[in-house]
Amino acid sequence: MKHWWRVGSGWWLAWLLLAGAGAAWIARAELIQLQEDFDTNGRIVHRLLSQQVVQYDAVLATLALLQTAPDAGRPEQRLPAVYPSILAVERRDAGGEWSDPALAKAEARSRELRRPELAMQDLPRGRYRLVIGATPTSYALDIDLAATVPWRDWPMDPKASPVRVLVERAGQQFVVQAGREPGARGWSFDFRKVLASESQSFDVVAQRHVGWSELPWARMAAWALAMAVVLGGAVALRRQRIERRRAEELLRLGQVARLNALGELAAGMAHELNQPLTAVLANTQAARRLLDDDPPEIDTARGAMQQAAEQARRAADVVGRLRRAIERPGQAGAARSVPLQDTVRSALHLLAPEFDRRAIAPVLEAHSPTPVNVQAEPVALEQIVHNLLMNAMQALDELPASERQLRLAVEREGGQGVLSVSDNGRGIAPDLLPRIFEPFFTTREGGLGLGLSLCETLAGAMGGTLAAEAASPRGARFTLRLPLATQEGPA
Ligand code: ADP
Repeated sequence: MKHWWRVGSGWWLAWLLLAGAGAAWIARAELIQLQEDFDTNGRIVHRLLSQQVVQYDAVLATLALLQTAPDAGRPEQRLPAVYPSILAVERRDAGGEWSDPALAKAEARSRELRRPELAMQDLPRGRYRLVIGATPTSYALDIDLAATVPWRDWPMDPKASPVRVLVERAGQQFVVQAGREPGARGWSFDFRKVLASESQSFDVVAQRHVGWSELPWARMAAWALAMAVVLGGAVALRRQRIERRRAEELLRLGQVARLNALGELAAGMAHELNQPLTAVLANTQAARRLLDDDPPEIDTARGAMQQAAEQARRAADVVGRLRRAIERPGQAGAARSVPLQDTVRSALHLLAPEFDRRAIAPVLEAHSPTPVNVQAEPVALEQIVHNLLMNAMQALDELPASERQLRLAVEREGGQGVLSVSDNGRGIAPDLLPRIFEPFFTTREGGLGLGLSLCETLAGAMGGTLAAEAASPRGARFTLRLPLATQEGPA
């Protein structure tokens, strides 16, 4: 009985490798995709924030250019209404003072660098100040980072996205988007780029952690399953092929067996025909003599003719039996070097289902370290081994399944290749032993009694012998001896 899981470990290994490699490839592709998306988002965030902050530079530069007279009103005070992220605008007219000495310092640097300059930063609260030194009036902007973020164009969902976005500078951080805290195991992506404004040299930082749970497990499992289906199909196909080959092989052996049996049959028939034909001859000769007598003994002659007719009918029956049996012409192959072990193994393989069914585990002992090559006609050799195995199996049928033993041994002995087949079946009674190779000798119900006689004939035709003996403590042993192949030489 074959079960689906009784598949060779090679197949399991192949599946494991294919499934593992495929799943790893799928996971890698997913990680690459996630990283690409992350990098793209990082670049978009950087561009958006840069675009926002350079506006402050522009605003300050514009204010510095459009210097207004000290008494011309305060148009810059309208800026917070236009830019919600500008919380306040401070100005210092010529001779005036800043509210904060840090502003004065920044203004001095701004004049030196000829661009706006950072006066103060409080990133945890999202605040900083930007100053431009100009004549006669200098300006300072109070900026709110949170309001600077252009959420309308933001590439991620700020609440749900796992990406953490920060603005960093000099050890301070402003959290733009909280994202997800990185887990212990998995993969981390990082993005860091300084804003495209010289005055506001904040780093835009993005971080993304991908945990194991985020891998595309469903797709990976589907792949493993698909591989299992494909390999399962391959296993089934292979099994089917082996079974078909086995069936073809059995059929072929069957045909050869029939063919060879017919040869034996013919020999048997010749033997059987001999007797009635002799009787016919004797009776007709007697009848002619009786009719030649004077007066002719007609009644006795009639009786003799009657017997001759009966014997002729018996002979006709024998011929009829032969005719019914003969359908195909014989075929004989040429002898060549054949590895004995291989032939035995292939016969065992061929009959494996029969052995399984009878719970017989044949043991093949090879006493020779090198292959034993015999000079044989391969089909005839197969035929002999097959017959011996079939006979052993039949002999073992009468034993309880657990006690059945079948041993085969291949060895070299005195310039011959030797195969012995021993079983612990019912054995052969000593008085029957000399007769078992006779044609038509059988103790089996429905047996033809031609198997062993055929095997012996085949073995003899190849220059070998087949012998039977009792095995100890019980059973029978058949020993086939064949000449070693010429290139082997006697061992
Ligand atoms: P069949 O199998 O048709 O009887 P065989 O020529 O193969 O013809 O065998 C002849 C007889 O030899 C069998 O009927 C059986 O009595 C005996 N025989 C053959 N092989 C064995 C064996 N392994 N154990 C016992 N008896 C056997």
